[in-house]
This record gives sequence, C-alpha cells and structure tokens, in this order.
Amino acid sequence: MNTVLDLVREDLRSFGGYKSARTEAVSGEVWLNANESAWENLADRDARNRRYPDPQPQALRARLAQLYGCDPAQLLIGRGSDEAIDLLVRALCVPGRDAVVITPPVFGMYSVCARLQGARVVEVPLVDGDAGFAADMDAIGQAALDQAAKLVFLCSPSNPSGSAIALADVAALAQRLLGRALVVVDEAYGEFSDIDSAATLLASHSNVAVLRTLSKAHALAAARIGVVIADWQLIDVLRRCQAPYPVPTPCADLAFIGLSGEALTQTRQRIALILFERERVRTALSSVAGVVRVYPSQGNYLLVRFADAEQAFQSLLAAGVVVRDQRSAPRIGDALRITIGMPTENDRMLAALGLVEAVA
Ligand code: PMP
Repeated sequence: MNTVLDLVREDLRSFGGYKSARTEAVSGEVWLNANESAWENLADRDARNRRYPDPQPQALRARLAQLYGCDPAQLLIGRGSDEAIDLLVRALCVPGRDAVVITPPVFGMYSVCARLQGARVVEVPLVDGDAGFAADMDAIGQAALDQAAKLVFLCSPSNPSGSAIALADVAALAQRLLGRALVVVDEAYGEFSDIDSAATLLASHSNVAVLRTLSKAHALAAARIGVVIADWQLIDVLRRCQAPYPVPTPCADLAFIGLSGEALTQTRQRIALILFERERVRTALSSVAGVVRVYPSQGNYLLVRFADAEQAFQSLLAAGVVVRDQRSAPRIGDALRITIGMPTENDRMLAALGLVEAVA
C-alpha cells in the first residue's frame, strides 16, 4: 500500500525536529519554562506578544481549514506559500539525487528552492497554443517518471501566463505518479479562477498537495500567511522540519480578523470587481497599437506581448506605472505582466499606453 510517507526523505521520516517549550504537553499557572519576559513591552497594548506563539495557532488553523475545505490536521500554516514550497523540497528531495519538475514560464521559487536544496530541476515547458499557455500533462508525467522526480509543481492559475489546469487532468497525473511523486498544485490565485480547488482531490489522491495564500485575494501579503494542504502524515513531517514558531502572533491575529464574515464579504466583492476589470482591461489592451497578444487569464494579472516591450515598459514607468518585466524569462522576452488594480489605476495604465484619457 502506497503512503505519502514513502515519498519523504528516508532520514526525515522519523525525525523529531526541535522540541520547543510551547510544544511540551504540560499545564501550570506560573510559566518559567521558556525564558520569556515576565512583563509586557510598552508597545504590546493587548498583552498578546510576551509569550512565544502556538506553532500552529489553533483558531486560525481551524478557520483556514474551513475556508479551504479540509481537516485542520491536513493543513500547515507557514510564512507565505514561499515557505511551504521550501519545506516540501527540503522534506522530499535528497540533495544531489532527487529532482523536481516545473513548467516554465512559471513562478521562480520552485527552482530557487530546488537549487538551494541541491535538487535537479526538470523543465517541461508550457505549450503556447490558441487558448494560451497550457501544461502538457502527458509530458509532465513522463518526465517525472523518467527523471525519478519527487515533486511536480503545477501552478494553477499559472503565474505569469494566467492559464489553469482542469481538475480531471491533475487527478490523472496524481494517479499516474502514485507512489512516485507528489503533485503540488499552487493555487495562489485560485480565488480568481473558475476551477475548483485541487484540495477536493485529497480524499482520493494522497499524493496531491495544494498551496493557498492570504497574500493575493485576501490582501494580506505583509502578514505572510500561506498554507499547504496535504495528507496529514505529510503535514506532520513538514511541521517537524519547520522553524519552531513560524506564525507571529500579530500576523495570526490579523489573519483571523481578515477571515471574519464581514472581511470575507468585502474580499468576495473585490474579487468580483477584479474579474470585471480583468475582462475590461483585456479587451482594451487588445486594441492598443503595439500589443501583439493578451493572454487569457484566470489570475489577477494579464500577460501581454508587445511589439516593443522595452518601449511599453518605459512609457509605463514614465507615467509612474510599474509593471512586471518578463523579458528575462525564456519564451516571453517580449512580454510584460500587468496586475489588475483599482479601476482608476487600470485607466492610468491604459492611458500610459495611449488608450484612454488619464484620470486625474
Ligand atoms: N505562488 C505563486 C504562483 C506566486 O505568484 C506567489 C507570489 N508571487 C507565491 C506562491 C508566494 O506567495 P506567498 O509567499 O506570499 O504566499
């Protein structure tokens, strides 16, 4: 029987990690076990920060699990999904031996973490077709098997291309790689997409892991709260590989309030506005002279090819509009990635490209 633990580095399967004072199951009234201060700092008005935090703040973990439709034991909170990517690579890849599969052009942290860990990076490029950039699922599966990869990073919706992968295709890949590799679906932009979360596959595919974050749709990038959702046994291993207190109390407090009913209602309204603006901006950009292609997007950004990307980038900068230059990325050297902002910001960007009157 395949368990996801078989994919974890052998030397880490029974690794205990650091045992912090906070993780010891003891009770008492006078806490003199963690060398904390006996008094609050003047800045600590709610007296919430004198003690080390719960490594996985329970209330926030339960709230996030409810939001993402999983069991709290299947979810680990980390410092952004960036940390989750790093933990997965470290826990699964033996340096100098194992490999990860990525699908360029794609978010850079998968290969950065692999490189830091001494894991090989196997590239299976997205295919640039009529419907946009698409993942070649057959080639991904074959490369993972041929190269004995431990991890396959799928980015859906993909940054920067904007394309998403159908759940049935993720499920088929996970099935094909069962016992061989973990299929990680990075859903940092999932809230802007019309595809269901791959977390729904976890019940039937133990080798699926999903990354979610509060940095994008939830507007809390500075709080650094991201999660990995996976089989509880894998979550347990990742927790033991993680720093002792990865979730600062002020960040956990902010995230908890940021997921209240009222905050979620506002977040949903803003997502709806972004989707509306994404379509408006896409249509507008398509008629800009010098725009070669605007890719369809399921994220809160558009990837745009220009006849002269340097000139477009400079015109935008001169108008005070900063977009993401993609020109060093392979195969999209003529592209810029433009985040969808407020309607007035989008108008200013379009005006800088010569399309609409600038808004004062
Ligand atoms: N995944 C993708 C696809 C991203 O674009 C980003 C941020 N740019 C991240 C993960 C990291 O997000 P965070 O660490 O803020 O959760």
